[in-house]
Amino acid sequence: MRIDVTPILNQAGSSMPFDLVEEIKAPDDDLKIIGPVTARGVATSLGKEIYVQAHVTGSTELICSRCLTPFTKPFDVDCEGKFTESGTEQEESEEDAVEVFPLDGASCVLDDMIGHEIILSLPMKPLCDPDCKGLCPVCGSNLNEGECDCRKAEDDISPFGRKLLEAMEERSKKNGRPKET
Ligand SMILES: [Zn+2]
Ligand SMILES: [Zn+2]
Repeated sequence: MRIDVTPILNQAGSSMPFDLVEEIKAPDDDLKIIGPVTARGVATSLGKEIYVQAHVTGSTELICSRCLTPFTKPFDVDCEGKFTESGTEQEESEEDAVEVFPLDGASCVLDDMIGHEIILSLPMKPLCDPDCKGLCPVCGSNLNEGECDCRKAEDDISPFGRKLLEAMEERSKKNGRPKET
């Protein structure tokens, strides 16, 4: 996704709005963007540099951390970035926390700026649903799709079976402990 800023480059103070709907290239293989993204914003000329602000919406595909099922999550982020010829800040100033990107000729390529912001907005442990039931620890079936037989079977267990199960659990717990020397 690029904006041709020829009309405002070297025209400090002038700005141009943009409104784009396009597919973008994710900066990271872990980020899966589904379909085109919408970016609305303004590019403002600082002379040789261009400051870009954009409101970006679209959808990503995430993997639920509980049931491991891919799901689509919409995103809605505000991005900003500064585009310079070298892609680096000319004068280092500490308050300026805006990320800097290289100008591509007289164009600002927004993909990285948008991608970085999307990654920051994503949850550390994505959930397909706040009430996701996850996977059965015994048979691995997705409990959102229905109860498996494991829990039912546990309820039907005879007192003898229950004792055996507890003993087995106890043993596996012990085996899990580091060996005493
Ligand atoms: Zn889930
Ligand atoms: Zn199960």
